[in-house]
Amino acid sequence: MSVAFKASCPDCRARFELDAGALRLAIGGSRRTTFYSFTCPECAAPVRKPAGERIVELLTGGGVSTLRSV
Ligand SMILES: [Zn+2]
Repeated sequence: MSVAFKASCPDCRARFELDAGALRLAIGGSRRTTFYSFTCPECAAPVRKPAGERIVELLTGGGVSTLRSV
């Protein structure tokens, strides 16, 4: 079963759903280095957004691949 995550693009303002494979999560030691990223399916812009505790839980629980950032 794949989980869809709702996301939006700050560039073209499109709203869409992404599956776990389209998202990357980076977990660092601070708020600034903990973020998730994806490529907008509408305009192909690289999007990076801060990930709070709740989002980190949601994404890791949904099978999004995680990397440690510094
Ligand atoms: Zn876009």
